[in-house]
Amino acid sequence: MTAQQAYQQQQTYFKAHPNPSLAHRKGRLKALRAALLEREEALKNALWEDFRKPRYEVELTEFLTTLIELDHTLRHLARWMKPQRKPTPLVLMGTRTDVQCFPKGPSLIIAPWNYAVVLTLGPIIHATAAGCPFVVKPSEHTPRAADLLKELIESVYPPEEGAVVLGGPDVGASLLDEPFAHVHFTGSPTVGRTIMEGAAKHLASVTLELGGKSPTYIDRSADLVDAAKGVCFGKFSNGGQTCIAPDYLLVHRDVSDAFATELKREIERAYVPGTGDADLTAIVTPSHFERQQALLEDAASHGATILIGGSANADTRRVAATVLLDPPESTRVMQEEIFGPILPFLVVDGVDDALERIDRRPKPLSTYVYTNDDAVVERFSAAVRTGAVCKNTTMLQFVQPFGPFGGEGNSGIGRSHGEAGFRAFSNEQVVLRRQWGSWILRLVQPPYRPRTSSIGRLFRKFT
Ligand code: NAD
Repeated sequence: MTAQQAYQQQQTYFKAHPNPSLAHRKGRLKALRAALLEREEALKNALWEDFRKPRYEVELTEFLTTLIELDHTLRHLARWMKPQRKPTPLVLMGTRTDVQCFPKGPSLIIAPWNYAVVLTLGPIIHATAAGCPFVVKPSEHTPRAADLLKELIESVYPPEEGAVVLGGPDVGASLLDEPFAHVHFTGSPTVGRTIMEGAAKHLASVTLELGGKSPTYIDRSADLVDAAKGVCFGKFSNGGQTCIAPDYLLVHRDVSDAFATELKREIERAYVPGTGDADLTAIVTPSHFERQQALLEDAASHGATILIGGSANADTRRVAATVLLDPPESTRVMQEEIFGPILPFLVVDGVDDALERIDRRPKPLSTYVYTNDDAVVERFSAAVRTGAVCKNTTMLQFVQPFGPFGGEGNSGIGRSHGEAGFRAFSNEQVVLRRQWGSWILRLVQPPYRPRTSSIGRLFRKFT
């Protein structure tokens, strides 16, 4: 099916079914849940074949995350769909206002490869909850998972409600030619710009879930063993190919040596040398692998020291969990989102120094702070415009469905997850009913007289 056919079929269907019932939406979500669970083994196998993602990691980072979102939506959807009565200011005496969410219309979802399941199904859950038909394009870089997702989605949705189109950037670009009502994109900031340009042609609303460099500050008050565990999990899960992974460390000078020791110990405990790194996900494609190698070579040639790791195997496309000490600002690892298991370790003089370094870069998707001092967390929250500030943990903000989840500027536009995801695909419509007091409005209608203005001024007092 071409992009045009998929869109037109959905638009015709949507005109006939502009506001699917709660029962219909929940029915689709329950069917999606069952279809997902039926394919658990198959998806684990597909992701292993696509990029050697460990099965336990698939359970945690793909299935658990998707099920949290699905069950939360099933539990709360009735409330989200209900009209919300709003208070009436005095000047609107005699009226009643409700706000109700209606589906925006056929929507486009473009997904990345790094969490192929949850980042494809997550927006589908929100589109379905909001009552929007959707066309989804999974990423071309995890082809086995994409094939399975297509089969899964088509087993739940008829094409007029949910269609899957496979392919790469060309197919994505052709989808943007169609006048979808909303575009939900997850991917890089560079492609995000192209998506926004495409959506602008039709004045479609956008949710852009992008990436960037998420900083992690290790304060001198931090529990260093705990911090090493949190950083190791957040950074090296999925081979570091996570939008909210700690991208670089800012470590207080007083604890830098002790923290480096703990981090090394934790990495060696988690990714036992000699076991073939079976728990470390491979880099997704040969070209992504070459990029990681190039980042390492560039950092080494500019004088960065390898503190931990540094090896890479082109046959398995695995890059060892690697920590680089003080790469200069001009290196690629400090200029680009790393999106792999390489972690710059910068020594800083405290909170001011850390905040100043964060401020030099575009707004990050997440900001992690390891400290036992809440005042330090407050300083980061107040100073950094970011999607989430997390104290003494990494990644958990993704599974807080009361969220919202999203970035700011370079790290994204709009919010998703839970109610925010539902609202992104919804048109929040005001229904204002005038019920009594029709004489009030007549007082300020033509023909205008001097008293019109005094009544207007009186109204101002009661806004
Ligand atoms: P990408 O931007 O290369 O591709 C994402 C999707 O866009 C793919 O389906 C791709 O085929 C499609 N695409 C590429 N060019 C296109 C074009 N010109 N027109 C239309 N579609 C096009 O991203 P990726 O490599 O798949 O994922 C990595 C990036 O995604 C990282 O920057 C990461 O931080 C970000 N990311 C963000 C989140 C989040 O929730 N904020 C989650 C995961 C990944």
